[in-house]
Amino acid sequence: MEREHTVQRELFASRPAWEEHDTRQGMIATVVLPTGVDRPLDYLVPEELAAAVEPGRRVRVPLGRGDRQRLAYCVAIRCGELPQQPLKSVLSVEDDRPLLSRRMLELTEWMAERWMTRRGVVLEAVLPAGVRNRRRTRRDPLLVAGTGTSAARQPTPSQARVLAAATEPRTAADLARLAGASRAVVARLVRTGLLVEASPAPRPRTAARPAAEPVRLETSQEAALEAIRRPLFEGRHETIVLFGVTGSGKTEVYLRAVEETVAAGRQAIVLVPEISLTPQTCSRFRSRFGAVAVLHSHLTGTERHAQWREIASGLVPVVVGARSAIFAPTPRLGLVVIDEEHETSFKQATAPRYHARDVAEWRARAEGVPLVLGSATPALETFARCLRGEWTMCRLPGRVGGTHLPAVITVDLRDRGARSRGAISPRLAAGIRWALDGGGQVMLLLNRRGFATLVQCPACGHTVRCPQCDIALTLHQPRGRGICHGCGLVTRLPATCPECHGPGLAPLGTGTQRLEDQVRAAFPDAAVARMDADTTRARGSHERTLEAFRERRIDILVGTQMIAKGLDFPQVMLAGVVNADAALHLPDFRAAERTCQLVTQVAGRSGRGPLGGRVVVQTSSPDHPALRAAAAHDYEAFVRTELPVREALAYPPYGGIVRIVVRGASEAATAAWTGHLADRLRTEAERLPGSRVLGPAPAPIARLRDRHRFHVQVHGPADRRLRDLVRRATDGLAAPDGIAWIVDVDPVEML
Ligand code: ADP
Ligand code: ZN
Repeated sequence: MEREHTVQRELFASRPAWEEHDTRQGMIATVVLPTGVDRPLDYLVPEELAAAVEPGRRVRVPLGRGDRQRLAYCVAIRCGELPQQPLKSVLSVEDDRPLLSRRMLELTEWMAERWMTRRGVVLEAVLPAGVRNRRRTRRDPLLVAGTGTSAARQPTPSQARVLAAATEPRTAADLARLAGASRAVVARLVRTGLLVEASPAPRPRTAARPAAEPVRLETSQEAALEAIRRPLFEGRHETIVLFGVTGSGKTEVYLRAVEETVAAGRQAIVLVPEISLTPQTCSRFRSRFGAVAVLHSHLTGTERHAQWREIASGLVPVVVGARSAIFAPTPRLGLVVIDEEHETSFKQATAPRYHARDVAEWRARAEGVPLVLGSATPALETFARCLRGEWTMCRLPGRVGGTHLPAVITVDLRDRGARSRGAISPRLAAGIRWALDGGGQVMLLLNRRGFATLVQCPACGHTVRCPQCDIALTLHQPRGRGICHGCGLVTRLPATCPECHGPGLAPLGTGTQRLEDQVRAAFPDAAVARMDADTTRARGSHERTLEAFRERRIDILVGTQMIAKGLDFPQVMLAGVVNADAALHLPDFRAAERTCQLVTQVAGRSGRGPLGGRVVVQTSSPDHPALRAAAAHDYEAFVRTELPVREALAYPPYGGIVRIVVRGASEAATAAWTGHLADRLRTEAERLPGSRVLGPAPAPIARLRDRHRFHVQVHGPADRRLRDLVRRATDGLAAPDGIAWIVDVDPVEML
């Protein structure tokens, strides 16, 4: 028996070579599912699909016991020995070309690790939905308004709206949607020849630079351009930071650098905060380069898809867009620029919680091209990299043409009488008067919208809160409703105190609505407008208000921080910060940095023209280093005091933070599970020197949308070791039903 057994085994071991080749060799595709299974899966590629399956295309694969068909991203291909267990086979190939280059695939792998996010989620974030959904569908023809022949009749109002929307090529569906008309209206316009199919040939894409005399760069601009030119022409990566006040000519340097990039046959990506994607910014780039793809959040799926294809084909030399434009599929990338690089909107608030600055650095490094960051107030992270010598800082020390920076007057709100006119102190009022009398305009910043920021009972001090959030309700006029700025809930405010039943709840604190009322009352001769999230909901209203301000149809513009961003209005003689304390005392270690940045930005709005300018900052903390530095136009002074503080605490940029937010309907259960999570993190933290776990603690917003919120923070080295610590602690950890948690690496939002 014994011997026979051995013989059997020998028989198996000596299979004929052809059989071994046939059954054990093959082509294997590694795929990632957008949702569901987390880890990459291997599938056999059948011979008939071997030519079509490649990394970056999507495939259909069978999954699970029921072999349910799923769409998945092929991320790698290999040929070789097949594993013992039989592999399932790829069923079909979805895309006729790769949606992602190998480098972009690599980027998604890096991002998944860097921000502790599933690769499938990253892949879906990198590819716009319009691109993903439109894969093989017959492309709907794009229609444009033609020189129609049915001159006999006036178009109906709905037809007119469709024709107005058809100034750019759009699909019938998009036209109907944008115009609020039915498809039948669109079809009728096609029949009568008023809408025609846009010619399929690409629109002229040659750079059409107007013959305008180029400005002579100032010495510091020249030096900055030279610093960008060196890596650009040597074909290597380097990060150059342009540190200069608003109006110092940074944008002019970007434009020149982009020009040289385009002249060298390469493409440039320019990132700006979403709020700065105004026609003003776009036209500045368009007038230089003609062919500019502008990626903004109002694009329809079809438009996005069309632009994505044009960028991928290399036809578009310049891409301008917000955060996600960093994923533009430029095949010949030559330069990346990020304007206002300190803006927190470059960090995505939902998974993947990436920061576009870090993604840009990865791409620029991988492609061996320069990255240019510009700001009047660089993030401390950016400053620290420059001080360490990793990045090059170029200073643009003054405003172009030598216009003086405006004098900053600080008004101490603790002084008696400083508040005699509601939120406007006598000195601020005098400043406004001075500007108006001098023929100038005024910008007033108040970072709280609504009328009153809280509603309180004068008898017992009870504050009316949102029933589902731990947030005081804001009173909004004209209908006197309470709105929760956490969840958006709109409620009728009670007439009496819900706590002590006393009458007469008092609206306290000033929001932009009340400020607008006070300004109108104090300056009845001035045209006043307000710009905040409430007034800019309608598409295009933001631009319309700015346009009216530029055309001087508005004298005083009141608004939240959206008025403070990178806009050039030479007629502004006074910029006022109504309450600089609002942001200063937020429970966030970056509160001082943000305040200094905001006040500096606002101050930069004033005095950009020949009329000169002033800035008035109202605060109860005039001696705070952030405000003193901003008042002295010396952001670097703030950096010098703040960096040692961060270093002593091992806060960013000297340490990393991973924040975990846990939420659930039951306060006790959520607290208990967060405690369990914190214990596991502490056990792991003991093994990583320099790491520590803070919490668990209720999050600053302890309840949101009826969910209790707790958080834990892990502080430690600013690199992969910290993430690995969290990974080890949370590996295989599943929250009980009703509890959800998110992991935020390098958070910029601590509420
Ligand atoms: P920033 O981007 O730093 O705010 P800009 O590049 O927008 O500064 O420049 C501010 C203004 O000065 C713009 O109107 C710009 O056209 C103009 N400008 C920039 N550089 C020069 C220069 N070298 N000579 C003359 N005008 C310039
Ligand atoms: Zn709420």
